[in-house]
Amino acid sequence: MSEPYDVVIIGGGPGGYVAAIRAAQLGLKTAIVEKRGALGGTCLNVGCIPSKALLQSSHHFETANEEFAAHGIKASVTLDLKTMLGRKDKVVSDLTQGVEFLMKKNKVDYIVGEGQITEPGTVVVKGKKKQTLKTANIIIATGSEVTPLPGVSIDEKQIVSSTGALDLKKVPKNLIVIGAGVIGLELGSVWRRLGSKVTVVEFLDHILPGMDKEVSKQMGRTLKKQGVQFKLSTKVTGAKAGKGSVTLTAEPVSNAQGGGKKETLKADVVLVAIGRRPYTENLGLKKAGVEMDDRGFIKVDEDFQTNVEGIFAIGDVIGGAMLAHKAEDEGVVCAEIMAGQSGHINYDTIPGIVYTWPEAASVGKTEEQLKEAGVEYKSGKFPFTANSRARCNGDTDGFVKILADSATDAVLGCHIVGPEAGDLIQEVVVAMELSASAEDIARICHGHPGLSEAVKEAALAADGRAIHM
Ligand code: FAD
Ligand code: NAD
Repeated sequence: MSEPYDVVIIGGGPGGYVAAIRAAQLGLKTAIVEKRGALGGTCLNVGCIPSKALLQSSHHFETANEEFAAHGIKASVTLDLKTMLGRKDKVVSDLTQGVEFLMKKNKVDYIVGEGQITEPGTVVVKGKKKQTLKTANIIIATGSEVTPLPGVSIDEKQIVSSTGALDLKKVPKNLIVIGAGVIGLELGSVWRRLGSKVTVVEFLDHILPGMDKEVSKQMGRTLKKQGVQFKLSTKVTGAKAGKGSVTLTAEPVSNAQGGGKKETLKADVVLVAIGRRPYTENLGLKKAGVEMDDRGFIKVDEDFQTNVEGIFAIGDVIGGAMLAHKAEDEGVVCAEIMAGQSGHINYDTIPGIVYTWPEAASVGKTEEQLKEAGVEYKSGKFPFTANSRARCNGDTDGFVKILADSATDAVLGCHIVGPEAGDLIQEVVVAMELSASAEDIARICHGHPGLSEAVKEAALAADGRAIHM
């Protein structure tokens, strides 16, 4: 048995490994337990990173095929999928090894195996050998897993989750995506760009639930123009994998009220992307007495403390936005609180980004949320067609919309569809974090010609005085 630790972290994803680094920086004797065989969690291994590597590669492929000619570049382009997937794998392994290096650098003990809490203060790790770790504190950062769909069993070959969809060895002729959320649209975009006919089946009557409705509408129009087909208000009731194809049964959601025709759809590959659920298998939570809510998320207070003293939880496993940067920030704050410091997270300023092209990005309240809360607000909107840099780049789809309080002018939200939306939103995140007004953003000098001038113009538009519109 080792010397007792100050903290043992179970799960080496963005929540867990960032908490480990911060705890070690603060002088805590720290260990991290990860069963996957690589650090970085869902995000680095089968999530954010491989998906963004493929989005970038497939974007290059489509640009070369469809857009070079307009720039006066003649190119003949063919796809080498094996190399594309190999590059993605190398990006992943370089980054996961980088995290392992960071553990060494910060003197965090990295223990490979499945961690189980046998009692508060004790974690048993089942790896190559069984180890018992004694510790003052435990942080649970075990993340999430794919939500299964009844009647649809995932084989990761023909019926795949995001993990299988990141590693298809052949471009499917037809791909059906179940769920028009972030994963469905990002990975649907990858395979459409590489040549698949993509149909997205969505339960709701709109795509990207939770985002501002105007963003959802604009993204729907743009993706349709790119060739993605949508079947909205449609429920998948089953899927059967046969030789070479999958048969899917679906029906209109209105069937609950009667009427509507059932239909059968066929595809080479079906991607199930209907959300993720907390992962706590074999953790020993019941025995340790750790409370969970009715959806299986671990309950914590504002200091990430569970109901059991000395056991904390962060990241996807506690719910809220299932985002890597949210998990990371929770990891930092949790470690700081554990070390006797104070800290908090402003959940109103966590950005959400969809890495399609154009990208969609959002921070703060949507118009729908402001209306529901009865907040008087003004809206300033600026289209990328009127932004000179977007014109130079040939990326004019989309807009920036800034929502500000009618009385105080405080920025309440920002919603962007457009080129580099994920980076553009960060300016508004900073503004909101510093309690800025739309006028503040409007008065800041923005470099010309820049996409960020669209943010400034939207801020001006909130006061009815955009210059270039
Ligand atoms: P995880 O990253 O899930 O890590 C948990 C780790 O704990 C896992 O490695 C698991 O093996 C380990 N573990 C579980 N139980 C045990 C145990 N008992 N013992 C030892 N180890 C254990 N988010 C973004 O912000 N941006 C994106 O672009 C983005 N893209 C995504 C794309 C896809 C396809 C997917 C699936 C997700 C994406 N996400 C993205 C979400 C992001 O991956 C998660 O929000 C993030 O990984 C959560 O971090 P975490 O540390 O809470 O958990
Ligand atoms: P999601 O919650 O974003 O979307 C799931 C979609 O599936 C919803 O639109 C939902 O209405 C629909 N759906 C649910 N049941 C259905 C059914 N039976 N038939 C048809 N449609 C159905 O979930 P996701 O896309 O699986 O992503 C999971 C998580 O991963 C998200 O929380 C997201 O935050 C995270 N993620 C983030 C990024 C990013 O930040 N760029 C990228 C990928 C994933």
